[in-house]
Amino acid sequence: MSAPRIGVLALQGDSREHLAALTEAGADPLPVRRREELDTVDALVLPGGESTTISHLLTEFDLLEPVRDRLAAGMPAYGACAGMILLAREILDAGTGQRRALPLNGIDMTVRRNAFGRQVDSFEQDLPFDGLADPVHAVFIRAPWVEQVGPDVQVLARAADRIVAVRQGAVLATSFHPEVTGDRRVHRLFVDIVTGRR
Ligand code: GLN
Repeated sequence: MSAPRIGVLALQGDSREHLAALTEAGADPLPVRRREELDTVDALVLPGGESTTISHLLTEFDLLEPVRDRLAAGMPAYGACAGMILLAREILDAGTGQRRALPLNGIDMTVRRNAFGRQVDSFEQDLPFDGLADPVHAVFIRAPWVEQVGPDVQVLARAADRIVAVRQGAVLATSFHPEVTGDRRVHRLFVDIVTGRR
């Protein structure tokens, strides 16, 4: 199979790092800012950044409903940090103007925004990650944690007893930022999910 066309939502946040990581992981990535671009991709990455800003821009750029519809139709997606927040069914401690229940609803989970941030803004930790042989070096930056998951959600990693990586079908989310380390295993996992290998 040829390299899957994976879009990276490029409204705000660290889309460039994900584009580079996806190329290294064997995908054919594309920044997505417009509906026509979304229509050409097989899958979508929602990067880290500021979820309040990204949700606002999704509405401004008329992408909120199209992304939600693609997710409902089974489009694979990967959300990191702010991207994880956007993929939730429910957000706790949502920002001003950020609706408590975003309609993206990619994963049946409740996410607490800036959850680790209240204790310590940023930290790094080596975490066992289900399906990967060796621990992942996880970088957390004002990170959310997953407070509750539905029955179809698989927990892939925890930090300090909190859920920080999950998968539901073809949708993956991490509280941390694998795009800022040189380790491409999480992006490769996502590429394998997109191509149906995992
Ligand atoms: N705290 C940010 C938010 O609420 C997420 C931080 C990040 O993506 N590094 O969106």
